[in-house]
Amino acid sequence: MKPDTRYIEVAVALPVFQTFTYSAPESLAAFVAIGKRVLIPFGRRRITGYVLGPIQGLGHKEIKTVLDVLDDQPLFPSAMVPFFRWISDYYKYPLGEVVKNALPGGLNIRDYVQVSLTTDGQAALDSGQLNPITKQILSQVQPGPCRMNELYKKIDQNIPAALLYSLEQQGLILRKQKLSKARTKARLERYVRLADTRPAAVKLTRSRKKIIDLLTASGEISVGQLKEIVPTAAALIKPLEKAGYLTIHYKRVYRDPFGESIEPDSARALNREQAKAVATICSYFTKGYKTFLLKGVTGSGKTEVYLQVADELLKSGRCVLVLVPEIALITQMERRFRARFGDCVGVLHSGLSAGERYDQWTRILGGEARVVIGARSAIFAPLENIGIIIVDEEHDSSYKQEGKLRYNARDLAVVRAKQKDCLALLGSATPSIQSYYNTVTEKFSELILTKRVEQRSLPEIRIVDLRETRDTRGIGRYISSPLRQAMQETLERGEQVLLFLNRRGYASFPVCSVCGQPMRCKHCDISLTLHQSSNAYRCHYCGFSRSAVSKCDVCGSDKIKLLGLGTEKLEGMVAKLFPRARLSRMDRDTTTRKGSVLKLLKGLRDNTTDILVGTQMVAKGHDFPNITLVGIICADLSLSFPDFRAGERTFQLLAQVAGRAGRGKRPGRVILQTYNPDHFSIDAARQQDFTAFYNQEIGFRNALNYPPFSRVIQLKISGKDPRETKKHTHTLGDLCQSLKASESARYQGIEIMGPIEASLTRIARRYRWQILLKGSSARMLHRFINQLMSDHPAGLSRHQVQVAIDVDPFFMM
Ligand code: ADP
Ligand code: ZN
Ligand code: ZN
Repeated sequence: MKPDTRYIEVAVALPVFQTFTYSAPESLAAFVAIGKRVLIPFGRRRITGYVLGPIQGLGHKEIKTVLDVLDDQPLFPSAMVPFFRWISDYYKYPLGEVVKNALPGGLNIRDYVQVSLTTDGQAALDSGQLNPITKQILSQVQPGPCRMNELYKKIDQNIPAALLYSLEQQGLILRKQKLSKARTKARLERYVRLADTRPAAVKLTRSRKKIIDLLTASGEISVGQLKEIVPTAAALIKPLEKAGYLTIHYKRVYRDPFGESIEPDSARALNREQAKAVATICSYFTKGYKTFLLKGVTGSGKTEVYLQVADELLKSGRCVLVLVPEIALITQMERRFRARFGDCVGVLHSGLSAGERYDQWTRILGGEARVVIGARSAIFAPLENIGIIIVDEEHDSSYKQEGKLRYNARDLAVVRAKQKDCLALLGSATPSIQSYYNTVTEKFSELILTKRVEQRSLPEIRIVDLRETRDTRGIGRYISSPLRQAMQETLERGEQVLLFLNRRGYASFPVCSVCGQPMRCKHCDISLTLHQSSNAYRCHYCGFSRSAVSKCDVCGSDKIKLLGLGTEKLEGMVAKLFPRARLSRMDRDTTTRKGSVLKLLKGLRDNTTDILVGTQMVAKGHDFPNITLVGIICADLSLSFPDFRAGERTFQLLAQVAGRAGRGKRPGRVILQTYNPDHFSIDAARQQDFTAFYNQEIGFRNALNYPPFSRVIQLKISGKDPRETKKHTHTLGDLCQSLKASESARYQGIEIMGPIEASLTRIARRYRWQILLKGSSARMLHRFINQLMSDHPAGLSRHQVQVAIDVDPFFMM
């Protein structure tokens, strides 16, 4: 920013859509820059704001001044400002909140109110002549100052503001505005080195002499390292500094998220198809924006393509951003990238601690990390000179964030590439219908890998019709005899088995055997799942849990039948069938602890696991050469979801999980158990035929006018009061209808579906409704929603009824 700029545009992390103008006083002007945070007065508070740019020539009357500049270096490059603006506008989310969502958490500071006891207050407390609530308040703050919001929490009744005011007036308490500290900070480590001029050596103790010798030999050393050699070092360095032998100083260090070190590797010789893909992408390096869709069957070596493209770009001085759907896969991708590129790899994902994230962020900003690998939030990585944004497994629904800023990182990759005039590369064995349609309409260019590397064949898939075992009792109902036999053979050969069941827990459908009442969540309209390991019924939507010995709510019987199979029960059954096999299970329940996913994957890699049972977590992109059998316990679970993408999801999931088999030298096979062997999603997955699936599915989408033939915005309405929620939903529905009617020519292409009650009618005590807006183009749909919002500047939410706008929704239930 030019130093003479007096006025700046600031975004604040509050639910407001506009930005604000502030002026920088002379003393701070030199420190202000785009991407830095400033402390600003806002209403009666002081809060953090983000500097977005200078503002020229304005006629505002009263402009407030910035109180402080909080960063010595910008937190994001100025080139990201248009990206943030685009996101705010497209996803209908306040700009300052977009910036906050992008930055590593815990950095911001804001005002809070602190209450403390005065000496008069102490005297009043001692006198004992106080009314009960005053006494409670004063005793709460007696031990020391207390935050206002904590005081409210600790005192069980409503504290009238007038009472606090009067206590303050009487001089019994003191209220002060304080600034909270940032929770995330740079880590500084103590280092020591020899002083430039030292006193002549007098007699030193053995340990002190050892320290001096170490420093003489190694120059500078951290106190941590020093302590490993001289355990008492921490106590000794201060006196040594005082005596003039050494100096102590602080250095910024980065918390190391990696742990183990990795053997370096080098580029592989590419096969013909891989080489062609790499050459094509490289030929576009200097030609501006373009998006490629790399459609390569499972095990065709897409990652090697990414690596070699990245290598070329790095050589030409540009940076690479790689998005991967989830943490388990990030570690795999990270290993491969670090083996190839070493220390210039940075990672960003939610598995890092706040401090580690902040450190990685700084390394990226400083240009130290030039390849960034991360989950969806890494789309905000503050890279300057991006050459390509790679999105692996681009079809994966974890790129969509639900809640808060509802964005899709895959789509944002394309947007950011367009803005930066660089390349985007989307890869998948089972591309999303949307992306593949974009190659058909030539918005994207298609690159294909039709074969697995080194002539390995795709696994053979056999269908088992579950309708035939419907009446079987016990294990045989879930593990058919062909599957059981195949497992036996695989284990005997010393190979590994993967069993896939997309439902966790023990029993997902507990029912009273006397009156037939299902065990339901108290807060949601959903069946509870029994988790044997934690001895409780749990709700997968709100976390509610009740003891496993609970009785039926209706008739009080304790005879609960445990219907519905989950991974926990499946694991138990398999253990009975194959008592000598080493089993592990991978689902949300077994992977909550940090590092647990890595441990599970390590078991597969080291061959200390024979059978892995898991949910969709095991379906994604993993590369384990010794898995030669994949068993799909029930292929139908996602088919019946009330969602236009149900077929697409089912196909992707099945084709992906099948693709885990036979990735090594030995061929793989898959046994797919289903109640719907003739359904086209399942049949296409059996044949691993994406094109067949696409051709069927695209016909449906066209006939029903669903994306990619239209664009969709879902209004998600929820509230604790069923009547209020329903009423507001209908008001909102009427508003939509009358807006459409008032400009019928302009909004002809808008279709309003609903209001309807959501399929999950209640989650976490909130009643849920939906309105679906379909438009023939994104522009028209946005014009419509913009007008709806500007007609109601205070927002669409009302009286405890919340309205969330979900642009391009994924989770439709
Ligand atoms: P995909 O992501 O397409 O499923 P991967 O990139 O995981 O496939 O590749 C599968 C395996 O093949 C990996 O172990 C990888 O190291 C190996 N591989 C990739 N390209 C080659 C090649 N050209 N020659 C030999 N092996 C390769
Ligand atoms: Zn009952
Ligand atoms: Zn619940």
